[in-house]
Amino acid sequence: MGAVLLKERENQVHVKGEKPFSLVCNKDSLAGAVSQRACVFCGSRVVLYPIADALHLVHGPIGCAVYTWDIRGALSSGPELHRLSFSTDLQEMDVIFGGEKKLRRALLELIARHSPKAAFVYSTCIVGIIGDDLEAVCKDVAAETGIPVIPVQSEGFKGNKRAGYQAACEAMFRLIGTGGTEGISRFSLNILGDFNLAGEIWMVREYYERMGIQVVANITGDGRVGDICRAHGAALNVVQCSGSTMQLAKMMEDKYGMPALRVSYFGIEDMSEALYDIARFFKKQYPDDPEADRIMERTKALVQEKVRDLVPKLEPYRKALAGKKAAIYVGGSFKAFSLVKAFRLIDMQVVMVGSQTGTEEDYRELEAITDPGTVIVDDANPLELNSFLKEKGVDIFVGGVKERPIAYKLGIGFCDHNHERKEALAGFEGMLNFAKEVYSSVMSPVWRFVPRKEAG
Ligand code: SF4
Repeated sequence: MGAVLLKERENQVHVKGEKPFSLVCNKDSLAGAVSQRACVFCGSRVVLYPIADALHLVHGPIGCAVYTWDIRGALSSGPELHRLSFSTDLQEMDVIFGGEKKLRRALLELIARHSPKAAFVYSTCIVGIIGDDLEAVCKDVAAETGIPVIPVQSEGFKGNKRAGYQAACEAMFRLIGTGGTEGISRFSLNILGDFNLAGEIWMVREYYERMGIQVVANITGDGRVGDICRAHGAALNVVQCSGSTMQLAKMMEDKYGMPALRVSYFGIEDMSEALYDIARFFKKQYPDDPEADRIMERTKALVQEKVRDLVPKLEPYRKALAGKKAAIYVGGSFKAFSLVKAFRLIDMQVVMVGSQTGTEEDYRELEAITDPGTVIVDDANPLELNSFLKEKGVDIFVGGVKERPIAYKLGIGFCDHNHERKEALAGFEGMLNFAKEVYSSVMSPVWRFVPRKEAG
């Protein structure tokens, strides 16, 4: 491997086939390496942000709030309070004398003005340093206003982005169990880990409804506080993007005995498997209930209909893209598995794959499904990514907002699979959108005017 790599980061990169699998991950980013990772606060903000009828107040300097304002598309079918970014705008005097009074005033004013169903108060770095008692202020305001006011302990310096996911899960867990469970069917589930960036949750909900399964809560895309409060009444948690909400599923399993299934909605194979897994779960739970058989029948019919429709439509893209090379760098590694399979479906080769928050188990699984020579990288930085993309002669890079300029500067096509996406890439319909988008980016005539930077 001729790529630029700091010595201290060598054990966070593995090339399949060069030596037995070994990769160090889930540790703090190396100082000075300019990690692509976001801070703890940002990690919690992206998970909770799509809860559309909640107030999201960032307790800290204005910069933290601006940096995460409208950070995800996160579409809502109703209220859009989540799209407003509120901050206590802590300044020098607040740092010296404390920001609790300001926080209390801000909460009372915002709750009176916007009538949210709950409020999340995010702690930023400076709040962790000056030691404002978020818990006490939130408790006080909750008693005064009658709505849940929940502190999110997400001080930016507290660890890596994964700690932010944990803080978000802990905050949501305080809501769960506080609502009534009347009207919830035995054949029901919660959708965890989809953020409805471009309407995906609506597609997936429709599949579940066609199967005859009730969706109790979306956690968190197009999320509602009331649904989350009664989420413990569902029969099953179905967890996508496991890095961000698997912890919540584990907490619900411990407290309420709710089982969880890890799924992915990307690519035909994983989408179909997700639906079959759920149908199998209910059959196993209720082997003698004819409704479980009917769910399985409806699932088969749904998958067959979708696949029959989709495969011929994918064919022209597969022919045009066969043999092209792709690189993937995403937040959670579970999404990367599906992307590897989705590229395979259109005959493209994945030559680099990495994530911000993968675990050793995730990377092992990635190693198992990739081709020899594929670079697998944890917590990369722009210099490394730049270097891998050039070395591997990549035609398209799939990533998020911070990866886009890296691709364009090198004259490489880019597919946004994260915050800024406007096309749904999940579900059966999403696979076709994905192929179309990859095709338009890779084959765009614009690359004639932006010569590809070669390795060296
Ligand atoms: S690292 Fe700290 S100061 Fe920077 S955005 Fe995150 S919480 Fe705010």
